[in-house]
Amino acid sequence: VPVTYVCEYAWVAGSTARDVRIDVDEGGRIVAVEPGVTAPAGARRLPGLTMPGLANAHSHAFHRALRGRTHAGRGTFWTWRERMYALAAALDPEMYHALATATFAEMALAGITCVGEFHYLHHAPGGQRYADPNEMGRRLLAAAAEAGIRITLLDTLYLVSTVDGKPLEGPQLRFGDGDLDGWWERWRGLSGAGHARIGAAAHSIRAVPADVLPEFAGRVGDLPAHVHLSEQRAENEACLARYGRTPTQVFDDAGLLTPNVTAVHATHVSDEDRTALGDRGVSVCFCPTTERDLADGIGPARALVDAGSPLCVGTDSNAVIDILDEARAVELNERLRDERRGHFEVGELIDAATHNGHMSLGWPDAGVLAVGARADLVSVRLDTVRAAGHDNPAAAAVFAATAADVTDVIVDGRPIVADGRHLLIPDVPRALAEAITKAWK
Ligand SMILES: [Zn+2]
Repeated sequence: VPVTYVCEYAWVAGSTARDVRIDVDEGGRIVAVEPGVTAPAGARRLPGLTMPGLANAHSHAFHRALRGRTHAGRGTFWTWRERMYALAAALDPEMYHALATATFAEMALAGITCVGEFHYLHHAPGGQRYADPNEMGRRLLAAAAEAGIRITLLDTLYLVSTVDGKPLEGPQLRFGDGDLDGWWERWRGLSGAGHARIGAAAHSIRAVPADVLPEFAGRVGDLPAHVHLSEQRAENEACLARYGRTPTQVFDDAGLLTPNVTAVHATHVSDEDRTALGDRGVSVCFCPTTERDLADGIGPARALVDAGSPLCVGTDSNAVIDILDEARAVELNERLRDERRGHFEVGELIDAATHNGHMSLGWPDAGVLAVGARADLVSVRLDTVRAAGHDNPAAAAVFAATAADVTDVIVDGRPIVADGRHLLIPDVPRALAEAITKAWK
């Protein structure tokens, strides 16, 4: 049955409109967008600012179990890494399924309608294959369906543990497929569905030797493909020492820099790297809440966008799940570094959080409130303590509201969150607590 929504405010064609009627057809598409209406009888009212669906372009769902658990003492990088590997060693398919479902449900509550899951925890402990070698990947696809969101599974090639080609060991054995053909054969066993697309990833220049990258680029063709790029200085230094090239240059030499590719982080890139990324139309995905948690540094977001790279954002380690926070942090981090305000317009940050992320994940018909687009609607209340008194709904949503102010989420025309409650998973905090407790037993 077609449904009519009337939004108090909505983000339409790059600006805020008032009293916006949005008609959604049975197929979950937007068929009419009309500002300035009086609500017809039977219309459903959406309070606050209704935005297009938020895209989380970079996630490792299982890292959600690390939240708040990596700060013992002063919480060094090694505290984090040691706990991450302990967790990676412990998860089995059942545990992972429960943890991912709860994590994706938390994302839905935060207004995320689509997640890019950068998936590398493939195999059983010791690296043995499950009976279905894509057991873990299928669990992630099922988890997204159960949480009511779309997913692009970025199945990840992960072959070695250092830039110098040291073999995988310990928990890392679960990540590896031996070689490119092993990965590709497994990858071909994955298939998408209505809510799911299958993309690819090369973990990083640390985990994939340069001589494998051209063949990787050839196989992935125009699929959505993601790479971690220059997240920390040590990675750049090791890459320069081994190849005499920056990670960006190594990827470029391999023919991997194309418009369907997204470089995640791009924190420590040179001027030449930025020009190459921009000229090739490579998207960049910033993950500021994780980058600050891991002390990665502040990437040159404005300069990358000016060079030609579309910007999107992701929650990465899920230390925080709040795309509004990620978007605002892009601007606020630039201010901290430059001691100057005013790098991004609010509309650019909204594009990063919505349409650009969907483009990066291979859903070009999502992330806008427009006729023909997927009906992903996310309402952010602006009468809570955080935003009350605002004079600009879009600025209030991006710079004052948080994920806690998201009250209604509709994915492909289907209500998933209403009045701040998940309609498929009644007690998301409890689901998270149970899954995380089990993972650490
Ligand atoms: Zn990551």
